[in-house]
Amino acid sequence: MFEPLLINFFFLLLPFLFYFVFFEARNLHHFKLINTILATVTMILCMTLPIHLQTGFIFDLRYIPFLVIGLYFGYKNTLLPYIVLNLYRFIIGGDGFIQSLLFSTAILVAVSCYHRKFISLSAKYRILVSAIVSFFTMFFYLFTLIFQIDLNGEFWNLAFHAIGTHLIMMTVIVCLIERIISNIKARELIIQTDRYQVISELSASVAHEIRNPLTTTHGFLQLLSKSESISPKEKSYVDYSLQELLRAEKIVSDFLTFSKPQYENMIESDLKEETEYAKNILIPYANMHNVKIQISFHNSLHKNFDKSQMQQCFINLFKNGIEAMKEKGGILEIEVSEQKKNIILKIIDSGIGMTDEEISSLGKPYYSTKRLGTGLGMVMVYNAIHKVGGSIKVESKKGKGTTFIIVIPV
Ligand code: ADP
Ligand code: MG
Repeated sequence: MFEPLLINFFFLLLPFLFYFVFFEARNLHHFKLINTILATVTMILCMTLPIHLQTGFIFDLRYIPFLVIGLYFGYKNTLLPYIVLNLYRFIIGGDGFIQSLLFSTAILVAVSCYHRKFISLSAKYRILVSAIVSFFTMFFYLFTLIFQIDLNGEFWNLAFHAIGTHLIMMTVIVCLIERIISNIKARELIIQTDRYQVISELSASVAHEIRNPLTTTHGFLQLLSKSESISPKEKSYVDYSLQELLRAEKIVSDFLTFSKPQYENMIESDLKEETEYAKNILIPYANMHNVKIQISFHNSLHKNFDKSQMQQCFINLFKNGIEAMKEKGGILEIEVSEQKKNIILKIIDSGIGMTDEEISSLGKPYYSTKRLGTGLGMVMVYNAIHKVGGSIKVESKKGKGTTFIIVIPV
């Protein structure tokens, strides 16, 4: 039985092969759908070339891709493999179709109910749980057979092989998946850190270089505006120039705050004041666009940070949320909560949303889709959150809305 076993193992590895060759380097738009289709193909292959035991029994590994999709992606994505599995089982024919239908339905329901909990587990427990789930799946499958065949040595032979194979294969597959997940996460972290480094170097050097000539020009223009030999019209030009220079100086000093922590601003806070502050600042702006800002606050943890930077960071985030909803108005929800030793901040809008590509461009300097946008708001946000050791997750659907989830460890 070794040959078919190896072939089946190869079938199970096929999706990974596809993933590495075609999809790894890309930002996938339909990540779940593609993987579900790959898993479904694997399932069909497994069912087409099952494993024949010497004793005459047959078993296959169709439930491994089925379980993996159910556990990792939830019931919506499992429907496709579920339908294909039963349709194909029907086409293959032979008795036991009804049993297979009932059995796969039971698995679909059970696994999908467990999906949310499963996702929240750590990688180690996910591997363990997958092994246990595959064990029990086979256990119950064999249990349904008890009523049809005698419990002789041949049955136990089947039980041993089926359970053993499932356990080992499932563990190998889930280990592979977890490795891929951790690689993706590491890559995202590197990209974020890279971006941060570029920004702080850039801002520190450029802002500094620009500041000095600005100050000099400012001084001379001031002298000029006091001169009596220029006409009032010329004086008004000089005054405009001075105003604009002030603005430029402000932008430059804002830029400097990207890289320098301002020690006189350091405070310890639970974020309540900062979120309220940002909200209050933005209420007129929100009203203008028919947006309501709601804050729900459930946090007792405190964190050390630069107060003005954190306020600016929240203002940028809230402002983007309001701007995303300015077409049709809506509610901007801010949720501050705690989880273990983390402060969790969620900013939820029901605005225009973003594609995956747009999400991955967030935080790049000067990336903006707005006519008058600067593309610096999110740079500042990533920078400020990075400084407090936090992470930012973005969930967004084009046309539906966006949720920023910020996790700040305490
Ligand atoms: P700006 O707001 O000046 O355009 P930002 O750095 O604040 O610059 O944001 C960059 C881009 O990210 C925006 O132009 C927008 O396309 C996108 N963006 C940020 N937040 C959201 C959001 N909540 N919903 C939709 N798009 C957003
Ligand atoms: Mg902005």
